Amino acid sequence: MIEVKNLTKRYGNTLALDNISFTIETGKIYGLLGPNGAGKSTTMNIITGCLAATSGEVLINGYSIFDEPVEAKKYIGYLPEQPPLYTDMTPAEYLYFVAEAKGVRADEIPRAVEEVMEETGITDVADRLIKNLSKGYRQRVGIAQAMLGSPEVIILDEPTVGLDPQQIIEIRELIKSLGRDRTVILSSHILPEVSAICDDIIIISHGKIVANGPMREISSSLKSETIMDITVKATKDEVTSVLSSISGITRFEITETSTDASGVSTTSAKVHYPTDIDLRETVTFAFSDIRRAVISMTVEESSLEDIFLQLTSDKAAAFDDTANSDNGDNDNVSQENIFGSNDVSESSGSSFATSNADDELEDTDDADDESIYSYNPEDYLATQDKLADYVDADEDSLDDDDNNDNNDRNGKSVNASDNTNDDNAHGKETK
Ligand code: ADP
Ligand code: MG
Repeated sequence: MIEVKNLTKRYGNTLALDNISFTIETGKIYGLLGPNGAGKSTTMNIITGCLAATSGEVLINGYSIFDEPVEAKKYIGYLPEQPPLYTDMTPAEYLYFVAEAKGVRADEIPRAVEEVMEETGITDVADRLIKNLSKGYRQRVGIAQAMLGSPEVIILDEPTVGLDPQQIIEIRELIKSLGRDRTVILSSHILPEVSAICDDIIIISHGKIVANGPMREISSSLKSETIMDITVKATKDEVTSVLSSISGITRFEITETSTDASGVSTTSAKVHYPTDIDLRETVTFAFSDIRRAVISMTVEESSLEDIFLQLTSDKAAAFDDTANSDNGDNDNVSQENIFGSNDVSESSGSSFATSNADDELEDTDDADDESIYSYNPEDYLATQDKLADYVDADEDSLDDDDNNDNNDRNGKSVNASDNTNDDNAHGKETK
């Protein structure tokens, strides 16, 4: 169990973490979700003892990471945002090196290395140079090093950033399997990613926690509203009176009212009610009962991302610590990023869920790192836009059309990539 209490971190004038507290229970997969610059890496670096805090406390199974780092660190494996790989080593050499550094007993190292290679699926590439591996495989090596020493908790900072869609699916599967007998904390700036993998979610924005709890609860509480926009030929008082009389409406606000030269009033209102009821007819009939015409009505369900945007921007508005004003300009961009519309250069977080995630999948090779971005950016962005629709859909609930779509795109990404690896085994991930 990890207890984070009143953690604050300042970098000079920048308040990166503002008195955050949360608890990580054993055995679940946690998602630390937040826009770029929210404070995710700072949090993870502090929890893992890589960075000092300005104030606050972190206890790992009761050991303070600041006062008893050696004890505390035994329970944690960490894959930082920039994986600490020695690319001129092979995975086997590198993992031996890490195992020694972590103090794994010499006679246990061969078995320990073999086990983590097995679990992360890198046994086949154990003797290739890390620099010749695809980014997806390199990330597996990074995860393997975090697992050495059998820590109870694995902490992964944005583990899918920079991976192509197929690699993302595979790394997610790997993370889920790690979570079966360990605690996993992963950070992400992509909501669909967290909702696809995590049991619990901690949402961080501007160094503050804005939501924290089981994924299911948070998404159901956030999704629970329908918002109806109506305009009625009626006065503000008439609209208020009619809406007040309708049961089921949670709240409403008058958004606009005017009276024209001939004395006819028009009033608009925003009406909120739970998604499990439909009040369109009730509202229409209620106004026709007093002979008032509803001249427009639109209904939309607030989605997880709408509410999330609201959640983070509310807090952002309330957060006027001038020390953090350097974050301000990026707010909108960052929040968009959460929903997957990040730019191609990061190529991350997509919910390219296909039904055959377990089947053989090709992986693009990126002997040169940039080649993984060589699939058509426009296609990629179009897909990113669609991701918003998948926010609450888990991988299995995507319909066939969408799957076909993604498969096409996957196909393209593979064809378009600069595949220089001779061993590009048919239908298998390129290593
Ligand atoms: P995230 O990982 O969520 O993108 P970070 O924890 O990296 O966010 O950063 C949180 C805030 O702290 C940002 O405003 C960032 O600019 C700032 N920050 C991070 N690292 C440093 C540093 N070494 N020096 C100064 N400011 C930093
Ligand atoms: Mg980060």
